Amino acid sequence: MKKFQVITLFPEMLEGVLNSSMMWKAQKEGLVSFELINLREFGVGPRQQVDDTPYGGGDGMLLRPEPLFAAVKKAKQNDPTAKVVLMTPRGERWKQSVAREWSQVDHGYIFICGRYEGYDERIVTLVDKQVSIGDYVLTGGEIPAMAIIDSVVRLIPGVLGGEASAEIESFSDGETLEFPQYTKPAEFEDLRVPDVLLSGNHAEIAKWRQENSLKSD
Ligand code: SAM
Repeated sequence: MKKFQVITLFPEMLEGVLNSSMMWKAQKEGLVSFELINLREFGVGPRQQVDDTPYGGGDGMLLRPEPLFAAVKKAKQNDPTAKVVLMTPRGERWKQSVAREWSQVDHGYIFICGRYEGYDERIVTLVDKQVSIGDYVLTGGEIPAMAIIDSVVRLIPGVLGGEASAEIESFSDGETLEFPQYTKPAEFEDLRVPDVLLSGNHAEIAKWRQENSLKSD
């Protein structure tokens, strides 16, 4: 069973996502387990402080190293072979081919979610991979961690209903976007489903789908 641990100041943000739909099913079927590690529990001093001002000046606060190191140590005790992944706009851009690779390895992952202006850079000494989900800045690493976990878990064999559905979807070959799809009714507010899809001619349908798949940029 693959274990996904997330170090975060806001575990409640992940609870809904990880306990719904395919993520819930994957847990129920014993294919994955999730553990949320609250960084606040490793805070410094009586106020359990997790952040402080940056050396050299500048706006905002950074996550301090001591709580981050202690939380990673705890996560490694739970799962010694797990790889540590840091959510950061400076990381390697996430993509479907990497999600597929990660779904096939037999070790777990520990995600570190940054907050505020980021984290003390010394944490990178514990990190195996730095990942970004795109060229924009979010408030914290929780949404990136959820996006990555979802994209990996749904590709673990047995999670999706039909294994084929992951084979033919967008980016499965690294670049092609899936063809448009329709369901009942065949006509809705003067909008008709393309005739070929109603024809029952499987060869023509396959040809139409191929022609209507797009290459991504
Ligand atoms: N000051 C940082 C900068 O300019 O790069 C941004 C910090 S951001 C407000 C807080 C945290 O959110 C980051 O440390 C990171 O963990 C996470 N984050 C924000 N955008 C992200 C992205 N595109 N991919 C991955 N993580 C991101």
